[in-house]
Amino acid sequence: MTTLRIDGLTVTFANRPVLNELNLVVPAGAFAAVLGPSGCGKTTLLRAIAGFITPFSGTIRFGDQLVSVSSIVVPPERRKVGYVAQEGALFPHLTVAENIAFGITDNKIKSDLVTELLQLVGLSKFANRMPNELSGGQQTRVALARALAPAPKVMLLDEPFSALDAALRDELRAEVSELLKSRKTTTLMVTHDREEALVVADVVALMRDGQILQTGTPAEVYHNPISAEIAISTGDVLLLDCAKDEAGKISSVFTPTQLSPSALPGKLVIRPEEIKITAAATGLSAKVIDLDYYGHDAVVHLDAAGARVDVRIAGPVELKVGDLVGLEHVGPIRWFPN
Ligand code: ATP
Repeated sequence: MTTLRIDGLTVTFANRPVLNELNLVVPAGAFAAVLGPSGCGKTTLLRAIAGFITPFSGTIRFGDQLVSVSSIVVPPERRKVGYVAQEGALFPHLTVAENIAFGITDNKIKSDLVTELLQLVGLSKFANRMPNELSGGQQTRVALARALAPAPKVMLLDEPFSALDAALRDELRAEVSELLKSRKTTTLMVTHDREEALVVADVVALMRDGQILQTGTPAEVYHNPISAEIAISTGDVLLLDCAKDEAGKISSVFTPTQLSPSALPGKLVIRPEEIKITAAATGLSAKVIDLDYYGHDAVVHLDAAGARVDVRIAGPVELKVGDLVGLEHVGPIRWFPN
């Protein structure tokens, strides 16, 4: 098992830094997801780790091996790295088996290994098909088998499920993450889908403008974000105007308090499932102004003393527009200055 360690990595294009002193550690055998908006540098990060790009500065280590430092850049074929690109990128003129065999140099084991990998990704019957005769999900599986063939130390996945429909995406990403975790292959997947990152990864790294801003388990980054911006990137939030004084007292619509004149304005970050709807006589009075029904749960939109409050509730919805209710904040206090 191999730890992936990146220190102070800077990559520039036309003198513009796309990765900016980026630091990241993926523990040996872990499945990490880098979550960030389009254009923040996710693919560039993967390409630098794979060895397709020469960084301006910084280091990349696979375990004890330094694979990239400004003076030495180990070529991709000597890094033992697997790469699954966004659209799978299979060789269109080769069969499924030939695609998988492509990176296996040892002829003695080639045929057995292809058979084993076909079995692993559930495509034994498709060995002689051409890529254009496969569904999107099957193509992703072949791309994964091809990337696994040389037994990589580090596997890189670039939004491998983004082209698939929702049901297939859920199924395949569960399969793929289980497979990679069972083989203890250190994996870095990039995605802009927050649910995908939280569902499959052991470690989530939040990326913005060429830097990793926070790393942690899915629960850590979801519940303890270091900023309101990070909170928004991992799930729905309610941002409530509030103020906090030097004694730590907070005044918001939930806790109206007399504060000292030097209180700092800020935002309270609340998740929609951290507010309880109670009988009208208790808590903060609010009026239901709209309902979004999702089947498994619903989001109730309310007006509370002029503030818009969204609450996620489970189970059947017995509320209707116009109902008067009470609201109680039952989650942690996350306060960030403006
Ligand atoms: P997406 O989620 O849309 O794929 P991303 O986060 O993967 O985006 P990158 O593809 O890494 O982002 O691109 C980051 C920035 O670097 C973008 O502004 C892009 O235009 C720029 N960029 C990427 N590759 C090159 C290149 N070869 N030459 C010049 N600029 C580039």
